[in-house]
Amino acid sequence: MDSAVLDKLLSRMKKIRVEARLDASFDKLTTIGTGGKICVALFPDALPKLVKTLRFLRRSRVNFVVLGRGSNVLASDGFFDGAAVVTTRVNNFSVRGRYVVAQCGASAAALSRALADRGLTGGEFLSCLPATVGGAAVGNAGCFDQCMKDVVVSVVAMQKGKVRRVSAKNCQFAFRGSAFKQSGDVVLSVKMRFQPSSPDKVRETVARMREKKASTQPLNARSAGCVLFHENVALSRLIDEMGFKGYRIGGAQVSEKHAGFVVNIDKSTSLDIYLIIQRLKAALWERYGIRARTEVRLINFAEDEYDFFSKRKE
Ligand SMILES: Cc1cc2nc3c(=O)[nH]c(=O)nc-3n(C[C@H](O)[C@H](O)[C@H](O)COP(=O)(O)OP(=O)(O)OC[C@H]3O[C@@H](n4cnc5c(N)ncnc54)[C@H](O)[C@@H]3O)c2cc1C
Repeated sequence: MDSAVLDKLLSRMKKIRVEARLDASFDKLTTIGTGGKICVALFPDALPKLVKTLRFLRRSRVNFVVLGRGSNVLASDGFFDGAAVVTTRVNNFSVRGRYVVAQCGASAAALSRALADRGLTGGEFLSCLPATVGGAAVGNAGCFDQCMKDVVVSVVAMQKGKVRRVSAKNCQFAFRGSAFKQSGDVVLSVKMRFQPSSPDKVRETVARMREKKASTQPLNARSAGCVLFHENVALSRLIDEMGFKGYRIGGAQVSEKHAGFVVNIDKSTSLDIYLIIQRLKAALWERYGIRARTEVRLINFAEDEYDFFSKRKE
């Protein structure tokens, strides 16, 4: 980043009291624990500060990425010459009757506990996501037949510098996707609706889901969740069938417990993980003719150049 631009950015952040770190790196900000240094990481701790930060970055044409809990991203090992805006401190939510309004950085797990306390059902899946509500909305995250699409009423987003309310219909939720994933618009807050039930019933469902997840997925290892997806096919079963469990490149490995996960077992680099993803894509294509899509969000990768499918356009 041009040093004059960086100086301006730092002085603006000081003025609006947003913490700016010059020593941040993606390995500390992601659940998989890999990725290179970041020119500057910004930690707004209130919604108006987040809005001001985003407006400044846009006006100054600074390249930036938004990060929630970093549980669905793989950042390259190279230097990221831009800003990472971390939302986790913008994390309030309020519950009124069946409705919840959550700021983008609210913890999905904390929200699920509040829903259980109030006996509201429909958000039990949130207890299984190491996510922020904003990150979950962008990727329409979900599990056990529940997902964000089922509960979102509307989203307030930053679109080209303007704050706009977007109805659920216009969020264009799709399997692990949304309009925001395509556009790069930033989700500021999410309004959701749940259904009345009883605290005991909700807690029971949460416990069942969490137990199932813990028994089938490597939750204690460093990962970014499932690395690949396909709308109609359970890829992990096929990856397992091809014998990839335990397949290793450098410090990364296809999980022995769940073939959809790639885990950082020994100081993996992002390149190790990326290469495994491409190997799995190639194998799924060659063996089953299945075009798997990358579920983890790649940051600072020349994806088009190296992606297995880049030279195999349909
Ligand atoms: C152990 C484990 C289990 C998982 N299980 C599941 C599961 O069962 N189901 C499932 O769907 N996922 C699962 N995941 C993946 C991940 O938790 C979800 O995709 C989650 O929704 C990502 O949220 P996040 O806050 O961490 O977003 P991040 O990973 O920080 O960001 C993901 C993407 O969204 C963007 N983004 C984040 N916040 C915003 C915002 N406010 N506005 C605009 N863009 C934003 C980022 O730029 C990035 O492109 C799992 C991950 C792990 C590590």
